[in-house]
Order: sequence, then C-alpha cells, then structure tokens
Amino acid sequence: MKEFVVKAIDNGTVIDHIPSENVFNVIRILNLENFDNQILFGTNLESKKLGLKGIIKMRNKYFEKDEINKIAIFAPQATLIKIKEYQIIEKTTVTLPEKIEAIVKCFNPNCITNSENITTKFTVLDKVDVKLLCHYCEKITDKENFIISK
Ligand SMILES: [Zn+2]
Repeated sequence: MKEFVVKAIDNGTVIDHIPSENVFNVIRILNLENFDNQILFGTNLESKKLGLKGIIKMRNKYFEKDEINKIAIFAPQATLIKIKEYQIIEKTTVTLPEKIEAIVKCFNPNCITNSENITTKFTVLDKVDVKLLCHYCEKITDKENFIISK
C-alpha cells in the first residue's frame, strides 16, 4: 500500500515533487490557507528524483497558468497532476517564465521596490537553481532569500 500516507482524491490537482522544506511556502504562495475544500499534504516522503519530497493534493481545484508559475519558484521540478474521477487526465511539469512580477520581494533592503509602492520585476537567470535578477537594482535574489510579497 503506497497510498496510505496521503490518500487519493476523486477530483482535483496533485502537486508532486515539491522540495520537502518548501511545502508550506507553496501552500502560502497559492493562498491555500483560505482554500475551502480538502487539502492533503505530506512532507519528507521518499523520492527517487529528490531524495525527500513533499506532495500537496487539493480536492476540486484546478490551476491557471499564473498560479503554476508561482509554484515553480519554490518547486522548479514539481509535477502537476490533474485528476478526474480518480483518473489522471493530465500530467505537466512546471516551468518558470522568463520574467516574474510581484510574487517575491527583492532581497536588497535598499531596492526601490522595498521603500516605495512598486511591484517587483525580475528576470529569471536560472530556472532550476532559481535565481532572479531585479529589474530595478540589478541584484540577484536567490532561493535562500525568497520572501513572498503580499
Ligand atoms: Zn531590487
């Protein structure tokens, strides 16, 4: 019985291959704290691809592209699995876009986006080991420094 840790859902989306330490960041970035249906998640599950992984299952939830891009910031290798009536109907791998607006803060305290009401804008330099180049101050924010901007 492989599925006993996190049970199967009838309809919805499964996000698989999330780095274990980022499961709660993905929950926050997708605003799932306010999600009004079932959420099942697991952390530190064994994975051939990542060593340890996290997984999130949401009942009756399907994602739009901009939401998927948000997931990629914290889980660049995540797989999204769409489920209808217990059947997998689509499996996609997330990919970061070339540019990211809003979502995360620039780590540079002197950056104009941190002192004025300006939306952050980044160019994605590295899509796997996620590195973001700030459009305003040209400093690089990497995964050690991600703070979700709300
Ligand atoms: Zn900046």
